[in-house]
Amino acid sequence: MKEIVSLVKCSDYEIDNVRIAMKSLLDNLGGLDKFVKKDQKVLIKANLLNNFKVETATTTNPVAVQVLAEMLEEIGAIVTIGDSSAGLYNKFHMTTVYKAAKMTTVAENTNAKLNDDFDIVNCSYPEGVVAKNFDIIKVALDADVIINFGKVKTHSFTFFTGAVKNLFGLIPGMQKAQVHAESPKVVKFMNYVVDIGEFMKDKIALHILDGVVGMEGPGPSAGTPRKIERFIASTNPFACDLVAVKIIGGEIEHFPEFHIAKVRGIVPHEESQLEIVGETLESSIIKDYILVDNDLLWNDEVIKATAISKRVQKWITAYPTVKKSQCKGCKKCQEHCPNDAITMVKGVAKFDLDLCIRCFCCQELCPYHVIKIKRSWLSKILRKM
Ligand code: SF4
Ligand code: SF4
Repeated sequence: MKEIVSLVKCSDYEIDNVRIAMKSLLDNLGGLDKFVKKDQKVLIKANLLNNFKVETATTTNPVAVQVLAEMLEEIGAIVTIGDSSAGLYNKFHMTTVYKAAKMTTVAENTNAKLNDDFDIVNCSYPEGVVAKNFDIIKVALDADVIINFGKVKTHSFTFFTGAVKNLFGLIPGMQKAQVHAESPKVVKFMNYVVDIGEFMKDKIALHILDGVVGMEGPGPSAGTPRKIERFIASTNPFACDLVAVKIIGGEIEHFPEFHIAKVRGIVPHEESQLEIVGETLESSIIKDYILVDNDLLWNDEVIKATAISKRVQKWITAYPTVKKSQCKGCKKCQEHCPNDAITMVKGVAKFDLDLCIRCFCCQELCPYHVIKIKRSWLSKILRKM
């Protein structure tokens, strides 16, 4: 059986255009009332990575969230908007994130509430491949239904973030750094994220991707906004991501999440397992979208086949760096580094590359976007071979 994905064009975030597009997007899947009933408590789990301005295209667009909240209210659902951003999961920090992402405006314009319950619940999941015991934000467990509303972006560590990776935000604030420390390799890390999605899947009725304006280059926060002009929706997060990755010109086998899906027998993990309704994939593909360089060194089979030793791997793996003159000395990177690989020297961040696990959380969280990812000359040569 094929997974159905709805793909709809939307040229901008003008609210009437978004209303038309979102209605069409959900009608293609049988209508929103197929998934949500009157009086149900619905959590819109947006991508609220941190307190980044809407114009940076880092967070799910507020107009799109507002339109979804309006549609849910028409059905009679009780709507909460929430996420656990990077940093502390508390009222003070999340209020700054809600303001920057203009979710406060959404709450003013609708009856939707911004989550203000910052409790967490410990969960056991013996079936998990990596995540067998973890904390989940309570608001997600309390909801009758979750709608996962992610953003189409490149990602320096996981190469892409869409629907699957957005579910990492169900893990409370700083605990995410601990997960990075325990899962320094991207395959282990993404297996953890997939475990969280599998654990919560009965509650997540829909996955929607905001790709009207996505992010290209060194995402998920330091990249550049890029028009894609599409909304994508499915009941399956991998299906949404497969379509998004094809649109931005990626090759499926270059992305760890689909490799993991294939190994774990999760469908879909290839294009032939999709049925796309609405716009065609061919009319949506962007040929010059700037992806994150992917040397496939995350894939053990590739390493084995090329016989690259651990020592050489270290030389060719990308690493974080900062221009001394640009660093503001705010210490945000140091506070969030999961492996204590950053020290401040004369007010400037300094990286210990022996300790660095290349998670690129520092780049993701630097408010001034001054951390860059560099590749060695050897890596550049190898990728050209
Ligand atoms: S220095 Fe940056 S990339 Fe390295 S471990 Fe720390 S946060 Fe991750
Ligand atoms: S977060 Fe950015 S500006 Fe702040 S100390 Fe680190 S590199 Fe410097």
